Amino acid sequence: MIINVNEKSNIPLFGLDFIGILDRGTNLLEVKPITLCNLRCKYCFVHAGDYINNFILKEKYIISWLKYALKYKSTKDIEIHIAPYGEFFLYDEYLRLIRDLKKIPQVKVISIQTNGTLLDKKKIMDLEKVGLTRLNISFNSLDQSIAQYLSDDPNYSVEKMLNIFEMVLKSSIDLLIAPIWFFGVNDNEIIKIIQLAKEYQRKGHSGDKFRLGIQNYLIYKTGRKLRKIRQRDFGYFYKRLADLEKKYNLKLKLGPKDFNIHPAHPITPPVERDEKIKVQIVSKGRTAKEWIGRFNEKWAVKVLSKISLKVGATVHANVIKRKTDENLITAWI
Ligand code: SF4
Repeated sequence: MIINVNEKSNIPLFGLDFIGILDRGTNLLEVKPITLCNLRCKYCFVHAGDYINNFILKEKYIISWLKYALKYKSTKDIEIHIAPYGEFFLYDEYLRLIRDLKKIPQVKVISIQTNGTLLDKKKIMDLEKVGLTRLNISFNSLDQSIAQYLSDDPNYSVEKMLNIFEMVLKSSIDLLIAPIWFFGVNDNEIIKIIQLAKEYQRKGHSGDKFRLGIQNYLIYKTGRKLRKIRQRDFGYFYKRLADLEKKYNLKLKLGPKDFNIHPAHPITPPVERDEKIKVQIVSKGRTAKEWIGRFNEKWAVKVLSKISLKVGATVHANVIKRKTDENLITAWI
């Protein structure tokens, strides 16, 4: 079932990790407009593709909430990072969203996290015209069979992705290639991707225009896991990156400073951990044990419950997740 989230849906866009606007107390706000995905990656940390209910947010609704979110932020160098629990280019209103974001004076950078498989020349040209800053494209292997295995898609084409990279590099949009390092699975592929990055550098693509952002494979309780692959600690991961940086003379360790991300007034949930709160159930969630509650008019709450809840009911729930630097609330019954 597709649940449309708009002015009438009663679902606030603060409070949930899978849709809406996520703030982590910096000048970067994450926007999550859709939960559908065209791939079903074996390592997907959000389990995209397995939801009973999927969500699509109305563009105008996102913009009105974003303007509200920006009132909390005194800084004038906001980055909007569109990073759905799914694939952004399945979102019909993707171009309108970028166009409207671009009109907000506080927004200086607009970046998109994507698997890139739905991009083509026309889309890239359209995105260029509306002023997109950067595409962060996940790409884990130059080997066709490994790439197909990881994405669980027999039609995944490495050649197509390489063409897309070339097109983005020729446009005014910055490109960040973001492979995940699955130690023991794509070690050689990481080296090949570094060599590809060096080739792009030799062709003159450097600085903000082209970056390589290798990520460590992390295992999440709620995500899909690659069989027999374990997570390596960050100490080991950064040591390996440091060795490769030296060997290939290429910057691989990227941090918030490289993207001009800095602390900015946080949007803080008006509840405490372990507090019992009264919420109105306004929607089903993604799974059979998840609901969306509304608390204090402006806050959504992810409500977890083993017993079925009725939309419209008022319930008392215990807050189990509430951090000072994240505008998320999770509660359970
Ligand atoms: S990892 Fe990304 S592209 Fe792959 S299934 Fe998950 S959301 Fe989709």
